[in-house]
Amino acid sequence: MTIELPAPPHPTTPLPPPPHVAIAGGGLAGLAAAAALADRGLRITLLESRPRLGGRASSFVDPATGEKVDNCQHVSMRCCTNLADFCRRVGIDGLFRTEPAVTFLGPAGKVSRLAAGILPAPLHLAGSFLRARYLGPVEKLRVGYGLARLALDRGDEAGRGESFAGWLLRHGQTPRTMDLFWSTVLVSALNERLDRMDVGHARKVFVDGFLATKHGFEMELPLVPLGELYGSRLEDWLSVHGVDVRLTTGVKEVEVDDEGALRGMRLRSGELVAADFVVVAVPFDRVRSLLPESAAERIEGLDRIGQMESSPITGVHLWFDRAVCPFDHVVLPGRLVQWVFNHTAIQGRPAAGPDGGQYLQIVISASYDLLGKGRDEIREAVLADLAEVWPVVKDARLIRSWVVTEHGATFAVRPGVEAIRPPQRTAVDGLFLAGDWTDTGWPATMEGAVRSGYAAAQGILADLQRPERLIRRELEPDRFARWLLGEGPARRSAIPPARVPW
Ligand SMILES: Cc1cc2nc3c(=O)[nH]c(=O)nc-3n(C[C@H](O)[C@H](O)[C@H](O)COP(=O)(O)OP(=O)(O)OC[C@H]3O[C@@H](n4cnc5c(N)ncnc54)[C@H](O)[C@@H]3O)c2cc1C
Repeated sequence: MTIELPAPPHPTTPLPPPPHVAIAGGGLAGLAAAAALADRGLRITLLESRPRLGGRASSFVDPATGEKVDNCQHVSMRCCTNLADFCRRVGIDGLFRTEPAVTFLGPAGKVSRLAAGILPAPLHLAGSFLRARYLGPVEKLRVGYGLARLALDRGDEAGRGESFAGWLLRHGQTPRTMDLFWSTVLVSALNERLDRMDVGHARKVFVDGFLATKHGFEMELPLVPLGELYGSRLEDWLSVHGVDVRLTTGVKEVEVDDEGALRGMRLRSGELVAADFVVVAVPFDRVRSLLPESAAERIEGLDRIGQMESSPITGVHLWFDRAVCPFDHVVLPGRLVQWVFNHTAIQGRPAAGPDGGQYLQIVISASYDLLGKGRDEIREAVLADLAEVWPVVKDARLIRSWVVTEHGATFAVRPGVEAIRPPQRTAVDGLFLAGDWTDTGWPATMEGAVRSGYAAAQGILADLQRPERLIRRELEPDRFARWLLGEGPARRSAIPPARVPW
């Protein structure tokens, strides 16, 4: 679609209205599209059905304390170039802290730290890996062999429908190396179990996150609750930059006329929001219901979205009357509790009064085994697990707690899923899709969501004959890594970067 920008008006002619972009969904995909298009002389309306922005990366208010509690800890890595660009764009980039090392506490209680050493990528983590105290020397050799095979594979074995667990078994891994090393990294990065994840996604995490660059693996942790970061701060920024943010405004359906041309979006209230461009940035299981049959049948591959599955994440919030965890964050390989984030240390949020107690956020990704269990049972299992690690947990008083299981936390990165992720541009002129589940080349992450929003915004600018590259490139591999692993991201990664030709 091409929309001619109006010619400069005669001094007495009234200005024609600017093109109107309406975005459904105020998660990171919709927010990224709105932020990228703001301040460009367009009219932008962001429609969000909930009373807050941020989508899955948001907080709820604890009625007992009035405090913002995140639905779950959200971590990004320095290889997330588009999320970083988005945060700079909207002025929240100062609200993160970078962790130069990842702390592991092995089953025998020994601490290991993964940090970049002096060697160039992809060998920068070799020193810390060799010093890691939760794997024996033979296990390290096995893991090293597996990593080398994965890195040098260059995508040849991806897309064959094999699970990563199957690939690992074929490449010399044992249940212990799979449990203590491969699961520890991948289950949290991809929110999927090894026996259900695709080889290509696993390779992408290791190559792009841990091998290609020296600092790509470093974590970025928010210093404020998500509800402030992607909620209130974004609402303020968008309003100041001319975006009309309408909360508690559910979209019922995209409207097309009898000729199939886009008209805008019909709200649940019955109001029609007329628009030249529409970005549907809702989760994959909602998108079909927002598209009328006449539009849906023209969008290739839309029927295949029904084959996508979800994967759950459980977040457990624990407020203790005393300090029980001596780390700011820690990974617990081989346990029910996968990650512990100490929010008293990271965000300065004590649990009891100005200087007392400790507030911990626990993350359990791909928490299929917890789905049938009640909150009390999950909390008790988590407390028992933590008490084995830190016996002081048994003596500490639990002041309060929250257990949040998001059943549809992310789309599941099952083998073959890449073939069913649709591009952002659709066959209906002016209609774009966005969301972490669309074709971004990334797993279900905030980075993927922002990429999709940027891709939709890039498409709109191209249609307005103002082409501009909004999507940031992935981190350039360091020189030695480039030589060893291949040259561009397309050769390095089993999953080619999404095609965004506009
Ligand atoms: C528990 C949990 C932990 C996670 N941890 C991490 C992590 O550590 N790192 C990471 O990178 N990613 C993480 N993720 C994934 C990350 O949150 C998502 O990838 C990202 O937020 C998705 O953004 P999105 O905009 O695509 O979708 P969403 O955030 O789902 O946004 C879609 C929005 O559309 C709105 N909507 C739906 N229907 C309508 C309608 N009819 N009208 C108007 N609005 C509508 C919804 O209310 C929602 O706000 C986690 C996710 C969960 C659930």
